[in-house]
This record gives sequence, C-alpha cells and structure tokens, in this order.
Amino acid sequence: MEEKGKNCTKCKEYKTLDNYYFRKDYNKYRGDCKQCVSNTGKAYREANREKRKAQKRKYYLKNRERLIKETSQYKTNKRRTCRLSRTKYLVSKSLRRYITGGKSKRAKECIGCTWEELLIHLAGTFEANYGIPREYMKNFELHIDHIKPLASASSEEEIYELNHYTNLQYLMASDNLSKGSSSNWSI
Ligand SMILES: [Zn+2]
Repeated sequence: MEEKGKNCTKCKEYKTLDNYYFRKDYNKYRGDCKQCVSNTGKAYREANREKRKAQKRKYYLKNRERLIKETSQYKTNKRRTCRLSRTKYLVSKSLRRYITGGKSKRAKECIGCTWEELLIHLAGTFEANYGIPREYMKNFELHIDHIKPLASASSEEEIYELNHYTNLQYLMASDNLSKGSSSNWSI
C-alpha cells in the first residue's frame, strides 16, 4: 500500500506526506516535517540576526555608492516602463513640491484609494474626457492633471485634499499644457 504519511524525525508527530518537502535529489521525502524545517530556519536566523545585520551593514558601507546608483537607476527604469510606478512617483513628487519643510503626509494616504484603483479611475477619466476606449491610452501622451489646480491651495490640508483621486484625471499633454499647468506630468 502507498505510504500516506509518516512520523517526523524531529517533532515525532505523525503527519501526512503533504507536510513533508520532497527531495528530488534523493527521490524521497525529508525526514523532518515542513513545520520543523521552518522552525529550524527561524531559530537559525534568530541566532544569527546580529551577525547578519553586521555583515549587511559592512557590505552596504563598502558598496554604498554603487548600491545607491543602482537603486536609483532601477527606479528610473521602472518608472519608464511601468505606469503604476510612474503614477506613484508623480503623485508623491507633487506633494513634496508643494509641502515644504517638515514631513508631508504619504501620497498613498492622500489619494483615498489604492494605487491600482487610482489607475483604473484615471483610465475612466480618459474615456470620459475623450470618448476613446482605454485600450488606446498608450497611443497618447497623457498627463495626470489636478482638476482643481494645486496652485490654488491655501493650506497644507488643502494640498492633501487636492491629491484625492477624485481630483485627478488624465488629460492629453496638449490639452494640459494649454490649460497652463506648470507641472509636466507625462504618463
Ligand atoms: Zn516535525
């Protein structure tokens, strides 16, 4: 009869085979169960946490400049190729630009929805504004436009309100520029 389970070599409990990792190299299940494997890993990591932290710190300091450059390049590339990253970046940037001194509220908190929902909302505004299905959005140079302009805000609180998703829409670059917008929000 086929083996359905076995006792773990560590915790000694009887468990069904789906509780064991299969080792392809030995063509059999491990002796210790998944839970015990995870516990062992966790215990090892805890014991080595300080050591790992020091190692990482040393590596970081040694490679600091290269790492900073790589991260920045990665982010720039991501923004270039991914609409979601670009949107996050642009909305956050608009906040940083208008809130000077002190720490501003996170853009994520201001928009009043998730970033993914914001993209869907914006696509909806494109359709509403131009009567063109969203599939064709990529053929146009679009800007994220604040319907009520940020420049009109008279308080920090108002700046946050103006970054609410309901105040954001897609405009074609040509329209946005003619609107006299000072921010160039290519999307
Ligand atoms: Zn076990």
